[in-house]
Amino acid sequence: MRGFLYKIREALSKFMIGRHGMDQFSITMIYASVILNLLALIPLFSIFSTLALFLLLYALFRILSKNNQKRYAENAWFLKHFGDLPSKARQLFTRIKNARTYVYFACPQCKAKLRLPRGAGDVTVTCGRCGNRIQKKV
Ligand SMILES: [Zn+2]
Repeated sequence: MRGFLYKIREALSKFMIGRHGMDQFSITMIYASVILNLLALIPLFSIFSTLALFLLLYALFRILSKNNQKRYAENAWFLKHFGDLPSKARQLFTRIKNARTYVYFACPQCKAKLRLPRGAGDVTVTCGRCGNRIQKKV
């Protein structure tokens, strides 16, 4: 059994030689495909499953592609325009998770994201980025 798995691993390694493999663009497309498939469970959004399938097939095409130069260029373009997407998604998740304990707001001067514990009352907040003083009632 172990020899059989080893042979499969060897064959897969040989198959992947010269191919592009996983990168941030492909990983994000796979995640987006999973999210779209979950959204497709809602009856009116069933069209999303088709979109999810296309994203998954394109991610697979990119992973198996031997045109590395073009795939690197695509990944560089993706990182330039959407490179902060994972951190934004993490921030959004944290905000949703902490929605009961914190009030989030943006500094009116520099748009920095600030938070205050709910029920803090009438307070003056100093923005950590620009030093702007904000009167806030939470
Ligand atoms: Zn500020």
